[in-house]
Amino acid sequence: MTGTLTIAGLGPGDEALITPDVSAALATATDIIGYAHYVSRVPPRAGLTLHPSDNRVEVQRASQALRLAAEGHHVVVVSSGDPGVFAMASAVFEALEDAPQWHELPIRVLPGVTAMLAAAASAGAPLGHDFCAINLSDNLKPWPLIEKRLRLAAEADFAIAMYNPRSASRPDGFGRVLEILREASCGERIVIFARAVSTPEQRIETILLQDARPDMADMRTLVIVGNSATRRVGRWIYAPRRVR
Ligand code: SAH
Repeated sequence: MTGTLTIAGLGPGDEALITPDVSAALATATDIIGYAHYVSRVPPRAGLTLHPSDNRVEVQRASQALRLAAEGHHVVVVSSGDPGVFAMASAVFEALEDAPQWHELPIRVLPGVTAMLAAAASAGAPLGHDFCAINLSDNLKPWPLIEKRLRLAAEADFAIAMYNPRSASRPDGFGRVLEILREASCGERIVIFARAVSTPEQRIETILLQDARPDMADMRTLVIVGNSATRRVGRWIYAPRRVR
């Protein structure tokens, strides 16, 4: 029997934001692999084995998925949001680099609604002009690289979507991020703190960057810094499409 490996995004939280493609893959899977919190979003059923694991073991998790698929299982690796955005799809391909025997396995990556798009939609249209996305965690890259990219993104006047802004193990980095953006003359820019978007705990706060505080963000928050033209209309925030 030939197995398959599907790497799927579960969206930001609301079931209605799971794509039909992803639902179909989950319905025919024999094994679900992923961080425990995401695996728990898949309802158990007969014939389905759930393999929850800790957040920091991405490459082992990816190798386990490849091995099970090679043995004939229909494996779905789940991430929140989109699996290609700071998530499991890259980890699977990293594991595949060391495993030429598995290069011919049928692998599919199914996109999902990433947090920055759900956050942007809940605030209005802050990503309507050019933007970039930065992962603020320095678990897998040096901190000075994060600072450099932030400075250059500010100079280029991108709107900036920031993932993983602050966690218990990294309490201080986000304060430094706000400082760097103030030093780069972004104090007057609008910042959106979008927490737990599309879940019952959703909270959207908007504030000028000069008034933003580090404790406004946690690991369930996606932060969007507007560009210099981003503005309010009523209760909405949007980036004009035209820049002169
Ligand atoms: N693959 C995921 C991102 C994983 S990194 C995606 O495409 O969305 C995890 C970070 O995503 C969190 O720290 C937070 O910044 C953001 N995030 C994920 N779900 C979120 C949600 N429902 N609301 C706000 N931010 C979210």
